[in-house]
Amino acid sequence: MKDCIFCKIIKNQIPCEIVYEDDKVIGFKDISPQAPVHIVIIPKEHFDNLNCIKEEQEEILGHIFIVAKKIAQALDIAESGYRVVTNCGEQGGQSVEHIHFHLLGGRMLQWPPG
Ligand code: 5GP
Ligand code: ZN
Repeated sequence: MKDCIFCKIIKNQIPCEIVYEDDKVIGFKDISPQAPVHIVIIPKEHFDNLNCIKEEQEEILGHIFIVAKKIAQALDIAESGYRVVTNCGEQGGQSVEHIHFHLLGGRMLQWPPG
């Protein structure tokens, strides 16, 4: 996707601090962190959001959650606790149209979210 910010991050066209990368996904520090640990995890393949993931593509979702757990362990928030969330569509609060999962931790998180 030509004008997608996250596709540009994948192609190293926009600088960011990558904390995890494999052949399917990358994880990088959010530019506007909402918690002491705020990592954005994205598939390298572009999907607009969760609505665009078909059943036969479900494996990538499981992979992202396993990667989230590994990053949480590496950043030392696995024991204290953390949240993994994807915002989908306007009312879900999605601002970047490339599916992404927020890994948040390092402070007490509120529930329900606003
Ligand atoms: P959303 O609001 O769509 O759920 O989350 C998008 C996230 O991407 C936001 O938390 C925002 O701060 C982050 N973000 C947007 N543009 C950039 C960027 O260019 N670099 C980084 N590292 N994060 C970004
Ligand atoms: Zn994209």
